[in-house]
Amino acid sequence: MADIIRLLPDHVANQIAAGEVVQRPASVVKELLENAIDAQSTDIKLIVKDGGKTLIQVVDNGIGMSDTDARLSFERHATSKIQKAEDLFNLHTKGFRGEALASIAAIAHVEMTTRTEEEEVGTHIKIEGSRVIGQEVAVLPKGTSMMVKNLFFNIPAGRNFLKSDQVEFRHITDEFHRVALAHPQISFSFYNNGSDVFNLPSTDLKKRIVQIFGRKTNEKLVPINEETNVVKISGYIQKPEFAKKSRGEQFFFANSRFIKSPYLHHAVLGAFDGLIKPGTHPGYFICLDVDPATIDINIHPTKTEVKFDDEHTLYAYLKSTIKHSLGQFNVAPSLDFDKDQNLETPYNFKDKAISVPSITVDADFNPFKKVSSTKTASYPKHSSAKGWESMYEGLERKISHKEADVRKWNLKESIAPFLILAWKPKIR
Ligand code: ADP
Ligand code: MG
Repeated sequence: MADIIRLLPDHVANQIAAGEVVQRPASVVKELLENAIDAQSTDIKLIVKDGGKTLIQVVDNGIGMSDTDARLSFERHATSKIQKAEDLFNLHTKGFRGEALASIAAIAHVEMTTRTEEEEVGTHIKIEGSRVIGQEVAVLPKGTSMMVKNLFFNIPAGRNFLKSDQVEFRHITDEFHRVALAHPQISFSFYNNGSDVFNLPSTDLKKRIVQIFGRKTNEKLVPINEETNVVKISGYIQKPEFAKKSRGEQFFFANSRFIKSPYLHHAVLGAFDGLIKPGTHPGYFICLDVDPATIDINIHPTKTEVKFDDEHTLYAYLKSTIKHSLGQFNVAPSLDFDKDQNLETPYNFKDKAISVPSITVDADFNPFKKVSSTKTASYPKHSSAKGWESMYEGLERKISHKEADVRKWNLKESIAPFLILAWKPKIR
């Protein structure tokens, strides 16, 4: 029999790889945003049209690429992020497979412009379905712009799999949330069909959560913080009373990378056990920072499923950290939040001298002794309401007659109910 095995041409191999890396426009968004972050950008713009089907563009102000690198970046297994296998155990970047650009360029019309700090002019490169259409010199700002048009133009099956523009836009927004939350110090903006969706200046995690999910989120958040020898846990959980019917705001970040972990999710649910109604879901934004050597990000092409070395310990730490924070929040909410001065006690107890209340006792008082009627002037008898007026005699002398009449009336009115009350026990 004749030999029948052949090596697949690069563009076919790239298309096959693309099937794993690019499921939908949101996958392209993720890869391009991650590349921009790896390039040390401090400001990243995302522009999409028609749910990303016609256009996805990411513009960054990162380190850019030389013209040779610009060309090379579209080759499969072309990466600047690792050199040898051991580097996989000490990853500080989002990418390392060198697959994304090759895959995307195999199934779309791609235009890239890029310039490094050192070079005066940059490179403009055009690729369609893995074929380089043109490369030229261009005057550009420092950084990179990647434009991906007509995704799946040569893969009808991929195109048919896509949902409506709105659904694809929602997936893109989810991806944008994940990346923006994992990197609050980077400023992001997001435009859809010409109008802006988000404009997020550089900030910290709490404010980034508020920037994305709205001002009302602020009061829902409880901070979590724990540092052990295997993991540093930080971030925020939402107070139990804000648990929702739908799963929504649930985020795990491992070394600033959004990850999915049903196992650790279970630990969070365990900590909320008994505090939320059945059928509701707690919100959380949890950052886990571990030694890169103890985490394997390599197990899934989109790198959202990771494997921790010591997952059981992590589970236990996470659960107890959340329980602790929830407990603290229940006992003393002021410990966890910025203090509101309006709720503080308006006077200072510390500087006040303590005075012992004094009690005076009438040693001659005998409840069984009959009192003479003359003594009742200052302590009126219930059988006669006349005597009480004499209590105010001294006061009336100091004011005019007209005023006195009014005051007298007011005094009678205001004091009468108390006198009646005071008499009651004696009536019984
Ligand atoms: P990976 O990110 O896994 O290395 P990619 O295919 O995503 O693979 O990118 C290939 C290479 O292109 C990267 O390693 C990087 O050197 C370069 N690159 C891609 N995007 C950018 C960017 N926005 N800025 C600077 N360099 C980039
Ligand atoms: Mg990449």
